[in-house]
Amino acid sequence: MTVSVVLFTSDLRLHDHPPLRAALDRSDQVVPLFVQDSDVRAVGFDVPNRRAFLADCLADLDTGLRERGGRLVVRTGRVADEVAAVVGETGATEVHLAAGVSRYAALREERLRAALAERECALVVHDAVVTVVPPGAVTPSGSDHYAVFTPYFRRWSQERPRDPLAAPRRISVPAALAGDARDGTAPGAPARSGATAPALPPGGERAGRRRMSAWLRRGIDAYEERHDDLAGDATSRLSPYLHFGALSATELVHRARGRGGPGAEAFVRQLCWRDFHHQVLAARPESAADDYRDRGDHWRSGRAAEADIAAWKTGRTGYPLVDAAMRQLLHEGWMHNRGRLLAASFLTKTLYADWRVGARHFLDHLVDGDLANNQLNWQWAAGTGTDTRPNRVLNPVAQARRFDPDGAYVRRWVPELAGLTAPDIHQPWRLPEKERAALDYPEPLVSLTDGLARFQEARTRS
Ligand code: FAD
Repeated sequence: MTVSVVLFTSDLRLHDHPPLRAALDRSDQVVPLFVQDSDVRAVGFDVPNRRAFLADCLADLDTGLRERGGRLVVRTGRVADEVAAVVGETGATEVHLAAGVSRYAALREERLRAALAERECALVVHDAVVTVVPPGAVTPSGSDHYAVFTPYFRRWSQERPRDPLAAPRRISVPAALAGDARDGTAPGAPARSGATAPALPPGGERAGRRRMSAWLRRGIDAYEERHDDLAGDATSRLSPYLHFGALSATELVHRARGRGGPGAEAFVRQLCWRDFHHQVLAARPESAADDYRDRGDHWRSGRAAEADIAAWKTGRTGYPLVDAAMRQLLHEGWMHNRGRLLAASFLTKTLYADWRVGARHFLDHLVDGDLANNQLNWQWAAGTGTDTRPNRVLNPVAQARRFDPDGAYVRRWVPELAGLTAPDIHQPWRLPEKERAALDYPEPLVSLTDGLARFQEARTRS
């Protein structure tokens, strides 16, 4: 009887899962294992919104496995120790794992390799599970990664992604293994805990597949024209399912291309952004915390900066579109991409506060919070990343005119302004003083002219 372990990490699904398929092909029994990693908890990545979504994903994975005759085994501790223990208990000869892109993923792999070597068990790492094109698979001449999106997209589009795999029909799991995901006494039993955003989406592969099907049927065709329509909310909202791997990006690309049309093309381009940031992080893991391109910034600090940051976090900057986006984040654990771009530009450029502070706040709340996508999008917005126009500053009023022309998005999230119409709703500071006083809405933290001048001066000084 041969046994393999499949270690699930950011790939919490049964469809299109190369490590699971390989393990099933090469052994009689498989242990589907998830380790609640004490090291991840220690670095603060484990926050209530994602913990809740993760619990849904694990419960759903367990249900899917049970329908196929198996079950999910969940343990808590350090990954290498827990995997080695399961290998010891089952006599497994192979452990299958999806390749990750972060420094932490590299360390995890190294530790696993060492722990398994002692037990004469092979570690098999699978590419193209988390991303469509594996990081490093396409590179420009003279570098280990692409630093600019457009040439990456051109090259990426020439690659033929592998064919998606069907979900397995049957899975046989060794009996009598501790850590049953449904056993309330199992030390690793996943649970929702901590205060979550009031309107979190449900997690899990099934919920993700339902959303994907509805999106492909009804949403994707209009994506090109409507993806920036803040009030229309016309993007896929598939990001948390992609982050946890409840959906496969490879399958999505195939299905979108199968649908065809300008909407599908624009959508696939966004999925390429995801791969782009992953290949940057894989090549430059330090860019999760350090400037990818140092612009000599000396970000504001001290009391005034802290007060500005606190106002930004709670959606009280006095700029309605920024505030609407920040409040959407607190309510849903998710924010529209256009809102993220504006909120990040506003914090880093108009308020000239460190992108790391904003990135941390996003990671504290985003249900799709993802090291590669979050940190590198933040760096893009701050001009320390891969943007080829690092000093561009988004103007919240101009953005509002374009992407929320009648103010419906602001009205939804900033009820203090609900009685106003455009253009006043986007610039309430222009109302007569008496009307302003009745609004219970703050004055702008800084004028756009002063904010811009401060930023430009800081960047020319450096
Ligand atoms: P859609 O528009 O439907 O796009 C489909 C998918 O493409 C998304 O689900 C996502 O996986 C990918 N995608 C789209 N835009 C981007 C992008 N700019 N970069 C990378 N991938 C992209 N995305 C995350 O998944 N996690 C994050 O933590 C995250 N933080 C961000 C922080 C900032 C400051 C900014 C500007 C963007 C961030 N993004 C992040 C990217 C993007 O905003 C979200 O992926 C998107 O809003 C999710 O909504 P959706 O699924 O409806 O996207």
